[in-house]
Amino acid sequence: MTSFDPASLLTARTQSADEGAIIRMAQKSRDLRAKGQDVVSLTVGEPDFDTPLNIQEAATKAMREGFTHYSPVAGIPELRAALSKKLKDENGLDYSPAEICLTNGAKQAISNAVLSLIDHGDEVIMLAPFWVSYEITVRFAGGTPVILHASVDEAYKVPARRIAEAVTPRTKLLILNSPSNPTGAVWSRAELEEIAAIVKAHPRMMVLSDEIYEYIMFEGKMVSIGSLPGMKERTIIANGFSKGFAMTGWRLGYTAAVEPITKAMMRMQSTITTGANQFVQRAALEALAGPRDEVEHMRQRYQQRRDMVLKGLRAIPGVKIGDIPATFYAFPDVSALLGKKAGNHVMDTTDRLCDWLVEEHGVATVPGTAFGAPNSIRLSFAASEADIEKALSRIAAALGSLV
Ligand code: PLP
Repeated sequence: MTSFDPASLLTARTQSADEGAIIRMAQKSRDLRAKGQDVVSLTVGEPDFDTPLNIQEAATKAMREGFTHYSPVAGIPELRAALSKKLKDENGLDYSPAEICLTNGAKQAISNAVLSLIDHGDEVIMLAPFWVSYEITVRFAGGTPVILHASVDEAYKVPARRIAEAVTPRTKLLILNSPSNPTGAVWSRAELEEIAAIVKAHPRMMVLSDEIYEYIMFEGKMVSIGSLPGMKERTIIANGFSKGFAMTGWRLGYTAAVEPITKAMMRMQSTITTGANQFVQRAALEALAGPRDEVEHMRQRYQQRRDMVLKGLRAIPGVKIGDIPATFYAFPDVSALLGKKAGNHVMDTTDRLCDWLVEEHGVATVPGTAFGAPNSIRLSFAASEADIEKALSRIAAALGSLV
């Protein structure tokens, strides 16, 4: 009998689904802790706050009232209407309820968009440093990622000129994430206008605008590219409740796009998961309409932590960091330290540096390779002030010991 290897049946697609570094580093901290080592983890990209009580109570009430059945694929009409109003009032976007689709997290919003637009050979422009899932999702769809890089000196924003140079007749999509994970960069109206002009000059190009960090901003207000003249038809908005409302585990996101695109995305979602959880959608109505004090309180706490992290990192020789106008991430460039040694260990990559930081100094961060930016490391400051303080002094001592 020939031996049967189930793994040999796996598709090529599964090979591209490697969220690697973040999961690996989070797991490494857990393993070291299980062995009794004191590890501070700044790896995870989620609020350390619990979901505000009024939102929890709305979910409980909805369950009791029987909202435990399938939802329409695009979501309950009340929430589609509330989001249409929210997008108009808060973002200057003009999408009707019929142009909105609730999804199982913003992740599904992104995959609905990519699976609906991208065929084999279509090119998708991505601005590195970027959130790793974009590249994987585009590869899933058979698309070709076209990755453009920006450095810390460019405030991690690829200049429009370089985007224009990368556009080809096969370009179909540009993925924009402002505010950005992992850099916290925010694109100004003027910068977005330049990008919009490039998109509009192309006969068949759209933007997927991931706006999930819109409520975690420390300076000014986010501008949505979809609100610029002539950009509504050219934009798919992806957003959700995970970050701003501390609702990561609830799995609720949404898209906004013109009807033919929304209908196609609904067909994708209907096949894969059906509508989002119905009592969570009722809780989201409360998130939008209820008091926002908790959202503001969390934002202020992130801002205090941002200040702590910037002060701490700026004092470390060899660490380069600009401003962090939004999000709960710091993404310092550590290229000046690469090649240095700790004993026999050479820190020739950020992967190696991050392994050493967690194994020898008890502080877990994520190497920039996970974000298409191998010269930097990501620290999440969605962690307690005490942990941040401890992590910063460990990082300073560790990096200061490299020769
Ligand atoms: N977009 C970005 C930029 C993110 O950082 C994340 C989560 O880390 C998501 C989307 C996914 O959000 P959700 O948890 O709603 O799927």
